[in-house]
Amino acid sequence: MDLRIAHLYPDLMSIYGDRGNVLALAQRARWRDVAVEVRPYSAGVPFDAEWPDLLFFGGGQDVGQDIVGADLAGPGGDAVRRMVAGGAAALLVCGGYQLFGHEYVPEQGAPIPGLGMLDVRTRAGKKRFVGNLVADTPDGRLVGFENHSGRTYLGPEAKPLGTVVVGHGNNGEDRTEGAVQGRVIGTYSHGSCLPKNPWLADKLLGWALERRHGAVSLRPLDDAEERAASEQAALVARARP
Ligand code: GLN
Repeated sequence: MDLRIAHLYPDLMSIYGDRGNVLALAQRARWRDVAVEVRPYSAGVPFDAEWPDLLFFGGGQDVGQDIVGADLAGPGGDAVRRMVAGGAAALLVCGGYQLFGHEYVPEQGAPIPGLGMLDVRTRAGKKRFVGNLVADTPDGRLVGFENHSGRTYLGPEAKPLGTVVVGHGNNGEDRTEGAVQGRVIGTYSHGSCLPKNPWLADKLLGWALERRHGAVSLRPLDDAEERAASEQAALVARARP
């Protein structure tokens, strides 16, 4: 079996350790004897929409988000839509999450149209949400940290990834964190998110491998260290919300 991972805009949208999510996905697949190829998809370079099984789209500064938003308004965005329509799974963090929605409205400047692949809308708030993040989800506890001014609000097609226990999550108002729609998952959890949340990594791997190989059963890994990291992060978050 093989796995194809597309890292979207790695040069512009990989802050706060987000690149580590690609490393975690690739390593958890390789530990299961899955051959993995990772390809960068950068602004201004033609995207092969048929290739990826799995997309990763990280967070970035507003200036990077402007450049990426402009690229997604052209053929790059059409290609990403085709990837998702073709069954690719996707993990989006923060800025990448915001740009998968309908729009991101920064504090200054014109709204940045999103891909519309998640039924969410985001507008920048005055106060940045910075700190530890813990959320309960039906598949496990999500731990990480958040750093965003965006307030994201879900429409009826998107379901929350989880419920905030510590931190602010989507908007600091409705206690939702992240969004799930089909095989697309958005979250505000930086850090990298996946090394401390192996259940989420394996969920994405299962979806991605199914695209070309049919339903797969992933061999359980020894996640003692990952669980210890999650527990430590949750303890710190509760002590220093
Ligand atoms: N610029 C966006 C915000 O502040 C995204 C930031 C990020 O990706 N960390 O909400």
